[in-house]
Amino acid sequence: MAFEGLADRLQDTIKKITGKGKVSEQDVKEMTREVRLALLEADVNFKVVKDLVKRIKERAVGQEVMESLTPGQQVIKVVKEELTELMGGEQSKIAVADRPPTVIMMVGLQGAGKTTTTGKLANHLRKKHNRSPLLVACDVYRPAAINQLETLGEQLSMPVFSMGTEANPVDIAKKAMEQAKEEHNDYVIIDTAGRLHVDSDLMEELEQIKATVKPDEIFLVVDAMTGQDAVNVAESFNEQLDISGVVLTKLDGDTRGGAALSIKAVTDKPVKFAGMGEKLDQLEPFHPERMASRILGMGDVLSLIEKAQTNVDEKQAKALEEKMRTMSFTFDDFLEQMGQVKNMGPLEDLMAMIPGANKMKGLKNAQLDEKQLAHVEAIIQSMTKKERQDPSLMNASRKKRIAKGSGTSVSQVNRLLKQFDEMKKMMKQMTNMQKGKKGKGGFN
Ligand code: GDP
Repeated sequence: MAFEGLADRLQDTIKKITGKGKVSEQDVKEMTREVRLALLEADVNFKVVKDLVKRIKERAVGQEVMESLTPGQQVIKVVKEELTELMGGEQSKIAVADRPPTVIMMVGLQGAGKTTTTGKLANHLRKKHNRSPLLVACDVYRPAAINQLETLGEQLSMPVFSMGTEANPVDIAKKAMEQAKEEHNDYVIIDTAGRLHVDSDLMEELEQIKATVKPDEIFLVVDAMTGQDAVNVAESFNEQLDISGVVLTKLDGDTRGGAALSIKAVTDKPVKFAGMGEKLDQLEPFHPERMASRILGMGDVLSLIEKAQTNVDEKQAKALEEKMRTMSFTFDDFLEQMGQVKNMGPLEDLMAMIPGANKMKGLKNAQLDEKQLAHVEAIIQSMTKKERQDPSLMNASRKKRIAKGSGTSVSQVNRLLKQFDEMKKMMKQMTNMQKGKKGKGGFN
């Protein structure tokens, strides 16, 4: 998971100070020293760290903290606020042109995730904001890039404008704008060419496209895994093109976090989106406060709820509630539930959003559980329709057949049956409790 090392270190550091009834200057000094080391180790820009630590120190020894009743917690509040501010404070939203179409130019080095992000962004605009984007293939140097965008367009059932590899990118952009106006597309997202390094030919071409289409946004796509390199790339692109925002990709990977924490401070341009995986729905608006919360182990319950809202069908949720009440929950329902949870992304990432979860023993191995989920799925899929509805039918020969069909063992099948039984019992308790009867135990 991204930020893991930084999160662990910062959380250990602040834990020492949280419970303190009194915080001395010495305590603050020690804490800021550790915060400084943790940030440097996470590859945050040196100057950024220096400024940040200075501000934290000033505030932490100031009245705000020293005279408060809970100085320990107050210090953490300061750290969180400063981290949030460092990443841009408020969430930075996408522009909307007064007169459509809104034009977004995607720029960045090769391999950063530009083309993928173009598709993800189009998907996001349609899904969240009900927009109809036109995708434009301006990377004429890499034939594969045009194909890649066309494939994404097919997957999304969205139009892609291309003129092959012979045309001039500036002309392509111009013609695409005409088509968008004719077809009433309200967003135009232009995928431009990338290079391995920042070079003047590329910049010149991008400047020409910019002058022609007058974009409302220029999003620089950078790979978070490249750390300070990503920040340097952002600085160069910003100097030349005056970008309007950054999309940080591969934040699902094992990045130390330096880029996410330094980009705004170095370029004064906000991170607007974060790529959290290769799939088209794995793009998230970047919320500085929630990110700071996640880094400090305070969880990110808001993002979790939003994820659930977009992935869980309300009608299905209601039907499920009814089934729980009437005790008619079956293995089919169980399978459906699992599908919905899976839609929300890797378990490991979900765990990171739950306050304190990263400190719970065992949860660090959440990835392993995904394998188990696949087994559970295979077992249920090997049951007959009747068996799924009525587990009491299960006998030794049926279990053997199911184990064979799912490539698991009879003991794994037994374990699942037992878990299912326990889950039903728990549901019974919950519904009893809701009815006002006092159920025994509860769930903790
Ligand atoms: P481009 O050369 O900048 O257009 O880069 P591509 O869009 O072709 O992406 C390069 C690689 O990065 C592809 O394999 C993508 O699937 C992958 N990629 C893009 N964004 C993400 C992300 O947010 N997370 C992960 N894990 N992979 C990503």
